[in-house]
Amino acid sequence: MTIMVALSVNDLVVQYQSQKKKVHAVDHISFSYKENESIGIAGESGCGKSTLGLAIMKTLQENASVSGEILLGDKSILSMSEPEFTKNIRWKQISMVFQGAMNSLDPVFTIKKQFEEILRKHNFEGDYKQTIESAILSVGLTHSILDKYPHEISGGMKQRVIIAMALVLKPKMVIADEPTTALDVLVQAQIMILLKKLKKDGLSIMLISHDLGIISEIAEKIGIMYAGQIVEFGNMQDIYKNPKHPYTIALLESIPKLGETKKIIPLKGNPPSLVNPPSGCRFYDRCPQAMEKCKKEPPKIKTASGFVMCWLHEQ
Ligand code: SF4
Repeated sequence: MTIMVALSVNDLVVQYQSQKKKVHAVDHISFSYKENESIGIAGESGCGKSTLGLAIMKTLQENASVSGEILLGDKSILSMSEPEFTKNIRWKQISMVFQGAMNSLDPVFTIKKQFEEILRKHNFEGDYKQTIESAILSVGLTHSILDKYPHEISGGMKQRVIIAMALVLKPKMVIADEPTTALDVLVQAQIMILLKKLKKDGLSIMLISHDLGIISEIAEKIGIMYAGQIVEFGNMQDIYKNPKHPYTIALLESIPKLGETKKIIPLKGNPPSLVNPPSGCRFYDRCPQAMEKCKKEPPKIKTASGFVMCWLHEQ
């Protein structure tokens, strides 16, 4: 069986122009993964992971400029016109659960009306009732929720509704940006069970999160982002068992483990400014193993299943 490349990002750059400053939010990142695979993008707040998701969905703010290439199968997303992308790709092949989206449900309309609005916006011509009910059932809710207003349902139900809205036109791939953040641990677990079921049913998920624990439950591939760059990329299992980049190691060591009493040592300092990012390794000021040559641009070294940007792994 030939496995298709689901998504391929090549040398992607996203910059935000803010007053007189240019913020280098995503800086020359490249990675790819295959159809039916899921990927996690991990990193701390402000590292560019949400910007990456928005760039793939072509929903960046007007002050953003984008260069590079994003291929969905063999289709170049960035060179597509907005009407063509809306007609053929957005929500039909690839959709997104935006960060904090459950708070954006309109309080004055029922859930059903809000589903209908999505279908209308995407010029859907099929059976509205059947399509909406099928999406609602796929996330483990019942039809009765459709006549309710957002304030009448719980946070966990709202998040399921948001996921159902992303699935309503049956895309092959969903980008889920922090889908469990701000939910209590029990609801988080339920949402993870739901995402795993959807993945088992054939959905490819790009899970954006600061939480490596939840990514490890769902992804075959992972990209670790730091200050606008992917500093390590590869198979989830390889990186989880044998992390190479000092930042990945620090992220994994920050996950508390049941029964372990080891003190978690926080990283010193802060990520560099993305207005004037350093030309050398961006982790230099915080890295416990930094060397003189790290002030130069870090190398991109091939690993068994991906790459790592760190001089420590120079062959
Ligand atoms: Fe640390 Fe140098 Fe590797 Fe950067 S390139 S992570 S500073 S060892």
